[in-house]
Formats: sequence, C-alpha cells, structure tokens
Amino acid sequence: MSSWPFSSEHEELRAQIRAFVSKELAPHAEEWEEQGDFPDLVFTRLGELGFLGLSYPEEYGGGGGDYLCNIVLAEEMAGCLSGGVAMAVAVQTDMAVPPLYKFGTEEQKKRYLIPAIKGEKIFCLGITEPDAGSDVQNVRTTAVKTEGGWVINGRKIFITNGRRADAMTLVARTDRDAGHQGISLFVVDTDTPGYKVERVLDKVGMRTSDTGEISFTDMFVPDEALLGKEGEGFYNISWELQGERLIGAAGTIAGARRQFEAALAYAKERETFGKPIGKHQVIRHYLADMATEIEAAQQLVYHAAVLVNRGEYPVREISMAKLLTGEVAWKVSDRTLQIFGGHGYAMEMPIQRAWRDTRLIRIGGGTDEVMREIIGRMEGL
Ligand SMILES: Cc1cc2nc3c(=O)[nH]c(=O)nc-3n(C[C@H](O)[C@H](O)[C@H](O)COP(=O)(O)OP(=O)(O)OC[C@H]3O[C@@H](n4cnc5c(N)ncnc54)[C@H](O)[C@@H]3O)c2cc1C
Repeated sequence: MSSWPFSSEHEELRAQIRAFVSKELAPHAEEWEEQGDFPDLVFTRLGELGFLGLSYPEEYGGGGGDYLCNIVLAEEMAGCLSGGVAMAVAVQTDMAVPPLYKFGTEEQKKRYLIPAIKGEKIFCLGITEPDAGSDVQNVRTTAVKTEGGWVINGRKIFITNGRRADAMTLVARTDRDAGHQGISLFVVDTDTPGYKVERVLDKVGMRTSDTGEISFTDMFVPDEALLGKEGEGFYNISWELQGERLIGAAGTIAGARRQFEAALAYAKERETFGKPIGKHQVIRHYLADMATEIEAAQQLVYHAAVLVNRGEYPVREISMAKLLTGEVAWKVSDRTLQIFGGHGYAMEMPIQRAWRDTRLIRIGGGTDEVMREIIGRMEGL
C-alpha cells in the first residue's frame, strides 16, 4: 500500500528503514540520552545498509533513488526516539554532504562523497559563527589565498557532529570587500593542523548530538579544498539551506505525528472524573486541533518535496513548510506533555524529551522569524 506522494518502492524502503530503526536505534534512546552521546557505529550501520546515499547515483555508491527516498529516511528516523541522533544523520545525508555532490569536482567526490555515503567519513556543516547566525552574509571566518592553497582563520559555533566529524563543509570569506559575493565554500579535513574543537556545548534538548564550537588558526588547506567556484559560496549555501529546511520539516512533522499518536492513546486510556480524559471536550478538541494541524503541515511538506523531486527550486514553499511544521510540532509537543499531565513532565517518560528536542526546529537552519522574512519578501513586501 502506498499513498501520495510515495510509490510502492518508497514503501518497501520505508519498511526496511523502520525495521532497522526499531531494532538497532530506538532500544538505545534512553541510554544514549543519559550518556549525552551515541556511537559512531550508527553512521557505519546506516552506510552499510545504503541509507546514507539513497538518492545519489550508483557510481558513487548511492542507491540511485529520487528525493522522496530522503523524505522517507527523515520520517522513519523520527522513530529512533532521539532527536539528536536523527539530526546528526540528517546533517550527513541532507546538509553537509549534498554540496559535495552538487558543486564538487570528481576528485572531491571520490575523496569525500563516496566515503560519506559508506558511513566511513562523518561530516559536519560549518556556517554559523559567534557573530553570524541568521545573517549568513556576515560570516567573518576568512580564507586568504596563498601559494598552493588558502589560509583559514576564524570560528564556528553550534556545529552538529562538531566533535565526531572527519570533515567539514565550511563557509568562509574569500573577499572582505565583496559582500555576499565574497563568500566561498570549502571542504576540509578535521585533522588539518590549526583545526580545533574548542568545546562541546550543553543544550536543553538534542542532548545526544555533539554540538561543537570550532576554531581555525592559520589552517592551511590546498587549492583542491575549494568547493564550487570562488565567490559563489553564498548562493551555494543558500541552495544547501533549502534541503536542510525541508528535511528538517519532514522529520519534525513525522515526530509530531508520533507524539500525537501517544497523546491519543493516553487520552483513551487515562480516566478522570469517571471517564477517559479524551471524552472531556477540551482534551478532545486539543487532539482534533493537533490532528488537523499535523495533516496541514504534512501536506505542505509533501507539496514542497514533490516540487524538489521535479527539479524545481521552491524557496517559498520550503520556507512555509519549515515555518509551519516548526510551530505545529512545538504546539503538538507541548499539548502532548499537557495531556500526559505530571507523567509528561517526569523524566522517566520520553514525553519531555520530545518536547525539549522539538524546540530546536524553530531556531536551527533558519529561525521562524527569518522564514517569515523570506516569505514576506516573496510576497512582495
Ligand atoms: C542544537 C543546534 C544545532 C545547530 N547545528 C548547526 C550546524 O550544524 N551548522 C551550523 O552552521 N549551524 C548550526 N546551528 C546554528 C543555527 O542554524 C543558528 O542558531 C540559527 O541560524 C540562528 O542563528 P543565531 O543563533 O546566531 O541567532 P541570531 O541570528 O542572533 O538571531 C537571534 C534572534 O533574532 C532574530 N532575528 C535575527 N535576524 C532577524 C531579522 N532580520 N528579522 C527578524 N528577526 C531576526 C532571530 O530569529 C532570533 O530570534 C545549530 C544551532 C543549534 C542550537
């Protein structure tokens, strides 16, 4: 059985991913949350199973599938019950690595894309800096041309996979005076002299994910580290951000649906004043709103994904999908916690974890406010 926009092949893939996630990831969610970390083996296993390269061509070790395969992966990863693990994997599959395929040379693809698809190289994405988050064109990390390469100095913050990564897709300024046209992309190995993980940040949620602050001090990288054309980094990272936002939206709304299902089941079972709480009108209406809003956000995600799958560049729809799923998922996680009452707030139940993890979507990869700015501009304002 398949339903729009998926085919029976997508549903077969979904069943395979679901079996892996429920057997090898979900049982460890609590343990990894307590450790504040998860093993790199997760990437190795995903690579072995072919899940890290679903839509890349077979010549690079990919599965040769379409973009909707990536959506299936993001949706099923929500079943691992750890937002941090799902986010780390999404950074690899849909954020840090796609620019290598889209803008990389054959040599870069051999050196980085193929091992990334195999799960042998873990990637991180270095955009955000202490003084440049939403305002990407304000990045201050510099790459200065020298003989045979570039010397990079600067700092990145909030970098997912920041401690464990083998390589970084990096945004740096190659021309101080050229505004957004003075930005370029690089791919750098994290064992390059001058690359340093300064610290791993503590966070409210996504606690299994290692979020690093990284410094670069006189870090020399060869000419071959330039990814795409010099000066086109801002456009290229803007392209990357579309995929990042859509995959974030897809995973988030799948997580919200899981929370809704848990809340619905609890509302049928938990009794107060002689009846199940779902029979109290206010709770019933909460659940009705949750179901409606999840459905609306889900359809918007699928609409945007179908446009991407057709080769379009739907910035407006992706921005709307990111904004709506973030707000809906946050409301759903809060209502779910409310429906579970004290049990929802207790650490012994996973409800609070979803509530903490979900909050990030309204900030990461472009905040709600930035999404509204983009949509507003596209409406001619
Ligand atoms: C757990 C986590 C993981 C992350 N992973 C990565 C990663 O792997 N790689 C990476 O590069 N980054 C990563 N980020 C960074 C993330 O993308 C940024 O935090 C985000 O883009 C916002 O930037 P900022 O935190 O600097 O906030 P700021 O840009 O300082 O914004 C602060 C506030 O001002 C608002 N604001 C800013 N500009 C405007 C405007 N023009 N109009 C209206 N309001 C505005 C914002 O919406 C926000 O509410 C991660 C962040 C977190 C917390």
